[in-house]
Amino acid sequence: MALERIVKPHIRELAPYQPGKPPEQLARELGIEGAIKLASNESAIGPSPRAVAAMRSALEGVHRYPDGACFELRARLARHFAVGEAQLVFGCGADELLELVAKVFLGPGDEAVFAWPSFAMYPIVVQGMGATPVTVPLDSDLVHDLDAMRAAITDRTRVVFVCNPNNPTGTSVGADAFDAFAAALPDEVVLVVDEAYCEFARRPDFPDAIGWVARRPGTLVMRTFSKIYGLAGLRVGYGVADPELADYLNRARHPFNVNRLAEVAALAALDDEEHAERSRRVNAEGAEYLTRELRALGCEVWPSDANFLLVRGGEDLFDRLQREGVIVRPLSGFGMPDCVRITIGRPEENERLVKTLARLRQRGAER
Ligand SMILES: *Cc1c(COP(=O)(O)O)cnc(C)c1O
Repeated sequence: MALERIVKPHIRELAPYQPGKPPEQLARELGIEGAIKLASNESAIGPSPRAVAAMRSALEGVHRYPDGACFELRARLARHFAVGEAQLVFGCGADELLELVAKVFLGPGDEAVFAWPSFAMYPIVVQGMGATPVTVPLDSDLVHDLDAMRAAITDRTRVVFVCNPNNPTGTSVGADAFDAFAAALPDEVVLVVDEAYCEFARRPDFPDAIGWVARRPGTLVMRTFSKIYGLAGLRVGYGVADPELADYLNRARHPFNVNRLAEVAALAALDDEEHAERSRRVNAEGAEYLTRELRALGCEVWPSDANFLLVRGGEDLFDRLQREGVIVRPLSGFGMPDCVRITIGRPEENERLVKTLARLRQRGAER
C-alpha cells in the first residue's frame, strides 16, 4: 500500500495503546457472559448522583457548542486551589493534556524522560511527535528512582513526566524525594506531574505538587475526573500550571475539547465531596481486603496509593482469570508477564475475584 511510504516513520513504529476489554467484548469474542471488569481503574462506585442529574438537565442543550473556556469549572477550580483562572488548562481527559505537552514541546531530536513501567500513554505521545522517550527503570521497590531520572536529563531533554501515584504499580514518591527532584531540575525542562490517582493516596507525606507551580514555572500538575469522580466515560481532565505554560498549552488545543455534559457533570461532582469521600473509603477498604486475601493465596501484592493493586500471581494469571469472567490488566507489555494490575472494585466484585483465584489455585493444586 502506497501509504506505507508516506506515513511518518515514528507513527508507523507506534504500538497502539491496549485498553482493557469491556465485558461486552468478552461476551462477543469468547462467549463469556456476566464478566466483571477490574482492568481500567474506573470508579468502583460510579459517578455522583448529582453529576448524573446535572447531565440530565443539560441534555436539551446539546445542540449548542460547549463553553470552550470552561468558565464555571475554571472559576470553581481556581478557587479550590487558590490559583489564578489563567493557570488552568482543560482537556478531553487528562490524556489530551499529555498530548498537548508533547505537541508544544517535543519534536525530532528532543527527549522526554519518564520512569518505566509507568503510564502507557507517555511513550505514545512522545513518539507520536517523533521525539525520543528516555525511560528510567523503577527502583527495586518499584518506586520512581528520581535520582536516576535527574541523571538521565541532558540538554536535549524538554519534558519529564512523574506519575504519582504511579500507574501500573500503585507506588508513590513522598514529599522529601519529590521536592528535592523538583528543586534540582533545570529551568528549561517542563515538569509534568501526573496526579490522576492522587485523591486516593493515603501516605501522609504525599507531595504538594501544585505548590511547586508557583515556585517553579514550567511545572504542570495534571488531574482527572475519570478516576475518583467516576466520570471516565465523559473525558475531562485538567492541569494547573503557571500562566505562560497554560497559555501555550491552550493555544494548541481544540476550541471545544470539553463537552457540555462533561463540564456540568464535573462541576456537580466537585460539589459532592461526600461521594468522593465514599469512593476513597470503599477503595481503602477494598485495598485492605484484597491485599490480605491475595497474599493469603500466595500472591505478592505491592503497597498502593491508588485504586488498583499490582499483583504477582504467576505467568498465565490474566488468561485464567479472564476465562472465569474476571477481566484484569495483563502487564506482559511492561516486561512483567507474571504480574497483573487489578482495579479495586466494589466489595462483591473483590470477593468474586478472590473466590475465582482460590478456585483456580485449588484446581492447580489438584492437577
Ligand atoms: C487514567 C489516567 C490518566 C488520564 O485519564 P483520562 O481519562 O484521560 O483523564 C492519566 N494518567 C494516568 C497515570 C492514568 O492512569
